Amino acid sequence: MKIAIAGSGALGCGFGYHLQKSGEEVTLLDNWADHIQVVSENGLTITVNGKEDNLKMNMCKPHELNEEMDAIFVFTKSMGLKPMMESIDHIIGADTKVICLLNGLGHLKTLEHYVDKKNIIMGTTVWTAGIDAPGITHFNGQGPVELQNSDPSEKEGALVIVDMLQRSGLNGVYSDNVNYTTWRKACVNGTMNALCALLDTTIEKVFSTSTIDSMLSGIVTEFATVARLQDDIKLDVEETITYLKNLADKVGAHYPSMHQDLANNRPTEIDFLNGAVAEASKRFGVEAPYCQKVTDLIHAKEDILGIPSASNS
Ligand code: NAD
Repeated sequence: MKIAIAGSGALGCGFGYHLQKSGEEVTLLDNWADHIQVVSENGLTITVNGKEDNLKMNMCKPHELNEEMDAIFVFTKSMGLKPMMESIDHIIGADTKVICLLNGLGHLKTLEHYVDKKNIIMGTTVWTAGIDAPGITHFNGQGPVELQNSDPSEKEGALVIVDMLQRSGLNGVYSDNVNYTTWRKACVNGTMNALCALLDTTIEKVFSTSTIDSMLSGIVTEFATVARLQDDIKLDVEETITYLKNLADKVGAHYPSMHQDLANNRPTEIDFLNGAVAEASKRFGVEAPYCQKVTDLIHAKEDILGIPSASNS
């Protein structure tokens, strides 16, 4: 398959590497000149679960690729999705599948402006990744990558992608309700990520505070209310909080990605998490004070650090 990775940062490089190793024809797309230069001259250096490898890969800016793709994996941050879709319009054909595994809420609506719904495949992944320097990345975990076709009649197309991810070692799994998984993942990011970023500490420290129960209950209840009103998704608040606490026990020493975003002076995805819930709650005439406050405080931190906020518009 001809595959483009639209946004070849941490996760995009990991996916592109695995797909090319398994025989797919991959082009990495990005607009970061130093990263493109190093990958083009020296290959991509990637450490997967502690094992380093180097692979010669095609990499260029989006406008430099000039043929229609069979599949495109979008891997920008949430606020980069819209500009990325505008810059890859010319490589999207009538049958090009577009696969979206970004964290955050509202991405299907954005994609529908650019891609026929029959070709959109939504999903989540629990692989983790990072960039150590231009051209040098790491990729950890075992997956899975859960996927589902957005158009109910297009399951076959999603199964082809799931099969390809299986063959490449990325652990693709078909999901009957990826919308539920997306909301649950958003709860993880909207609690652990946001609170660690605000309190400038690790997951275990946040989960050992005297106020963790009321913070989790406040945020998760608001996510669950909007999930039900907006997408008819039923998130059990108590069960989700138990899931978060169990997860915190396993990854306690970790600083989540939103903390790392602030530490590296990068804008956060807060507008697509707690911010999206706060915005939606206004449309439904319900209150989401916790999510609104968390969003305001993260934006305040971005301001203090001189980071331009990402717009949700
Ligand atoms: P990243 O910032 O490392 O990579 C994004 C890349 O997209 C960057 O290299 C950037 O230069 C490029 N980009 C953005 N807009 C562009 C444009 N218009 N044209 C060309 N290039 C553009 O991000 P990431 O960590 O790989 O995360 C991607 C998404 O996956 C996010 O939604 C994130 O929350 C989610 N996610 C990340 C991880 C992880 O461990 N990194 C795990 C699960 C989910």
